[in-house]
Amino acid sequence: RRKIAILTSGGDAPGMNAAVRGVVRTAIMRGCDAYAVHEGYQGLVDGGDMIKKMGWDDVQGYLTTGGTVIGTARCKAFRERWGRLKAAKNLVKNGIDALVVCGGDGSLTGADLFRGEWPDLLEELVQTNELTKDEAATFSHLNIVGLVGSIDNDMSSTDITIGAVTCLHRICESIDSISSTASSHSRAFVVEVMGRHCGWLALMAGIATGADFIFIPERPPSGDNWQDEMCADIKKHRDLGKRKTIVIVCEGAIDSNLQPITAKDLKDLLTDRLHLDTRMTILGHVQRGGKPCAFDRNLATIQGIEAVEAVLASKPDVPSPMIAMCENRTKRIDLMKAVALTGEVAKAIGRKDFVAAMQLRDPA
Ligand code: ADP
Repeated sequence: RRKIAILTSGGDAPGMNAAVRGVVRTAIMRGCDAYAVHEGYQGLVDGGDMIKKMGWDDVQGYLTTGGTVIGTARCKAFRERWGRLKAAKNLVKNGIDALVVCGGDGSLTGADLFRGEWPDLLEELVQTNELTKDEAATFSHLNIVGLVGSIDNDMSSTDITIGAVTCLHRICESIDSISSTASSHSRAFVVEVMGRHCGWLALMAGIATGADFIFIPERPPSGDNWQDEMCADIKKHRDLGKRKTIVIVCEGAIDSNLQPITAKDLKDLLTDRLHLDTRMTILGHVQRGGKPCAFDRNLATIQGIEAVEAVLASKPDVPSPMIAMCENRTKRIDLMKAVALTGEVAKAIGRKDFVAAMQLRDPA
């Protein structure tokens, strides 16, 4: 029987549990054994109880639960060869040669590196008598499939990532709540949302809540006079009778000289120039928590199913696939290409080539 494992790694994202459930149940339906690796790569390195065989009922309730029940961690050891050696041994000893990784670009980079190194790792384990030649020959190839769990929606080559839509809902609920008090007191609020190199959350929340102004890294405000422009726009809205002002700033927001624009800068600006009673709200971790919305449950379920199908169809000479969403359909794309393009987006922003950044994020 084929043995397929799933782990969740990096930052947690709502819907990761639904992905685990999708993989576990599809694997069982397809006649395979399913395993969950707890605490991300740390579980692979530690082995033992951290790699658990999963039955159909073990994932009951996973569809609707936030975070990741099997745990996630940042694992230093997996960045080192000795850590990956231990991980390889633990997988082989459990008879597992297929690993579905649900995480961000860091986690998927680690996964692909692991697959590339696999033959070398096994050879070393045979030389040090940790594995037999037979074991190494039976598990000569590691199959990796990537699922993108990321609230930022920052992965290149896919339209949407697991967790982003739930996070967007959470931001909108928060801004709706802030809006009530803003209108009541005629206040201004500067709301900081997550997203280091990606303004998707800020942009979508800005549209969905009718914000007055947003700041995102992919399109910094033009020139050195953006403060005047923002204040003029907000004053216009106020003159038209609007009682509330909402400015959304993404964590990674920058000006056209690549200098950070912070919530505090904006609060001071609105207070000093427009004399608005301005408050600042850093939404922080409420954004990533809570139950996944219907979209993320379904996205993660569909992608979990597709991940198992991709494992069953995988061949040693074909690059590891990442399950992407393109025009509302799942698509298997080259994992490392998508990860490399994601890295290029940040570099393009760093050299102020914002048009290239958007093309790299959506090369199709
Ligand atoms: P994310 O997956 O959300 O981008 P990180 O970048 O923190 O999060 O990566 C999560 C984990 O993936 C790390 O703690 C590490 O164990 C593993 N990882 C990340 N990058 C690499 C790498 N280049 N080589 C090996 N492992 C890596």
